[in-house]
This record gives sequence, C-alpha cells and structure tokens, in this order.
Amino acid sequence: MKRVDNFGAGPGALPTAVLEKARDELLSYQNKGISVLEMSHRSEMFDEIHLSAKNRLRRLMNIPEEYEILFLQGGASLQFSMIPMNFLQKGQTAAYVLTGSWSEKALAEAKKLGETRIAASSKEDGYRSIPAMNAIYSESNDAYLHITTNNTIYGTQWHVLPSHLDSPLVADVSSDILSRPLDVQSFSLLYAGAQKNLGPSGLTVVIVKKSWAEQASKTVPTMLSYQTHLQHDSRYNTPPTFAVYLLNLVLEWTEAQGGVPAMMEKSLRKSGYLYRVIDEFPDVYEGHACQEARSRMNVTFRLVNPERTKQFLTVANDYSFIGLSGHRSVGGIRASLYNAVSEESAARLAEFMRDFAQSEK
Ligand code: PMP
Repeated sequence: MKRVDNFGAGPGALPTAVLEKARDELLSYQNKGISVLEMSHRSEMFDEIHLSAKNRLRRLMNIPEEYEILFLQGGASLQFSMIPMNFLQKGQTAAYVLTGSWSEKALAEAKKLGETRIAASSKEDGYRSIPAMNAIYSESNDAYLHITTNNTIYGTQWHVLPSHLDSPLVADVSSDILSRPLDVQSFSLLYAGAQKNLGPSGLTVVIVKKSWAEQASKTVPTMLSYQTHLQHDSRYNTPPTFAVYLLNLVLEWTEAQGGVPAMMEKSLRKSGYLYRVIDEFPDVYEGHACQEARSRMNVTFRLVNPERTKQFLTVANDYSFIGLSGHRSVGGIRASLYNAVSEESAARLAEFMRDFAQSEK
C-alpha cells in the first residue's frame, strides 16, 4: 500500500510498523479474544500496557524515581491552565519566556489566575529567535518559570536549555519530546500533547517531580489537580486507553530504533537536508528562523515570491507530500519532521524543493 510522505504538524506521521501492529491486534489483543478498545482500564491486561508505557518512557528519557509520569487528557492546552491552578499561589508570580504562539497561550491562562511576568521574549523579531540565556533570570517570588522548548508554529527550538535558574522550571515539550536528550532533573514539570512524537491525539504526557506536586494548591477541582492523578496512577477516571496502548507501541518502536540518541541523529540529518536547500536557493526560499534557533522538528520557510506558495503546495500534493501548509497565523510552508518521518521522506522533499527552485530559474 502506498503511504503519503506526511509532514503534518500534529497529529503527525506514526511509524508504519506501529499502525500495522495495532491493525493486527485490533480484534484480538495478544490472541486474548478482546480488543484494547473493549478492555476495562482496571483489568490486568490494561495494567500491563499502562505500566509498560510508563517504564519505556522512564528508560527512554532517564526519568528518575523522584518523578511520576502521568497520562492525562485535555491536550497540552489544558496544562496551560492546570500549571498555574496548581502552582501559582497568592503573592507569587509565574514567569513565562515568550517564544511563540503556544507560550503566549500558556501565559494568557496564567494571567487569568494570578500574577505573571514575561521573563524574556523574542516577539519583537517575529519569533525568529530564542532569547539569550543571560537575559533570563529568576526572581525570588517566582512560582515557576515556563518555557516552550520547540515552537511548532515558528519553527524555532531552544538548543541550550536554562540550567542556571533558581525557580522551578516548567517546559512544554509537545513538539520535541524524545527527539533529543533532556536532563529531566533540571525541570519540575514537563508536558507534551502526544500527537507528534508520542502517538495519537487525546493523550497528554506529564512528567512531574513528586515533591513539587506535593506543594500544589489543595483547592483545585479534583480532575484538575495533579495530586488526584498521582494518587490514582492516572486512573482516577477512565483514561484514553487506546491512546496509551498506541503510545506504548510508539515507545517500543523508539527503543528498537536506538532510542533518543538515534532519534536526534536522524532529526539532524532530516532537517539538514531541508535547511541545505533553503540556504542553497536564497532567491527562492526564505527560512523563518534565524540560523542559531532553527528547529529540527518544524522547518518553516516562505517562497520569496509569495505568489508561488500555492503552486508549491499544489505540486507537492501531486507528489504525495502532505501537511506542508504553514500554520494559518504565519502562512508559508512548514515541514514537520517528527520521529516517525523517515529519512527517505525528508530526502524526497529536499529533492523536490531543489527541483522546484531550479524550475524557477
Ligand atoms: N504546545 C505546543 C508546542 C504545540 O505544538 C501544541 C499543538 N500543536 C500545543 C501546545 C497545543 O496542544 P494541544 O492541541 O494538545 O492542546
């Protein structure tokens, strides 16, 4: 069966091997005569899936025992609200580094709940860069400092992460989790919508330092409290069971591929193919991100002649390259190169871009 080259920003490509396994097991999981879709979330069979997914993620990311892994719902967007609800107390300030639309949205939610400050921002340059590390500092009454490690819409990424701060560090890692090593211990909380590098939509992964979660507000509604989900091992209510099952398969695939170091090498090569063409044809393509902040997950660029954008997308679609339209807020082109996008897909797109550029001359 022919599958397209999927450069969608999320939900994005999933490994074909994972989809095949899910298909093969759909009616009868491990020959047990029952689908994962039909199984109780409190059954032994599902217990195994749930635990396996947690253990694999712990291994892949070297998550220490002092941290708990939660499988929640509501997307990364609900984390924008849950974080301040739980951790922004009276008299404290929540600090946000603005590097794009998602960090702006995270800040907007915190503003509804308490005092906030902008610790640094790259808004003035159209979110082409990541603020300089020495511009970011903690203040004594910061409840936490929030960053977005990869900016899915603008195509920028933090290549050096803050490690000099006194405040608890919180990060939205939705669009680059498992694509490079992260020192989990330098964060108090990490969160990611699953629909890019982890699995399908409908599942949000949260990695939280248990001692920090204990300090959370006790007046938060039950379902919005991290303590509830910690105490019930993410099964206070019915979790998105099939999404957790697919996550487990994606993590199994990631381990078999060589884990995070292999994913990083692969993403460097894939993004390198595209950035090379962008740099080779500056009269045809214009990258959005400045060189030092270029994302290895989302490559964003425009055609210097904007009238050719539509033609680029139409011809690309004829070649079965899909998901290449830039986000509606910035336009242009965006190629998302999540872990499941093969090197061959990226190489084919690079070749197409080169041919397209040459056809313009
Ligand atoms: N943060 C980032 C970095 C994202 O890329 C996205 C979605 N593309 C979100 C948050 C919002 O995620 P969700 O749709 O899961 O709420």
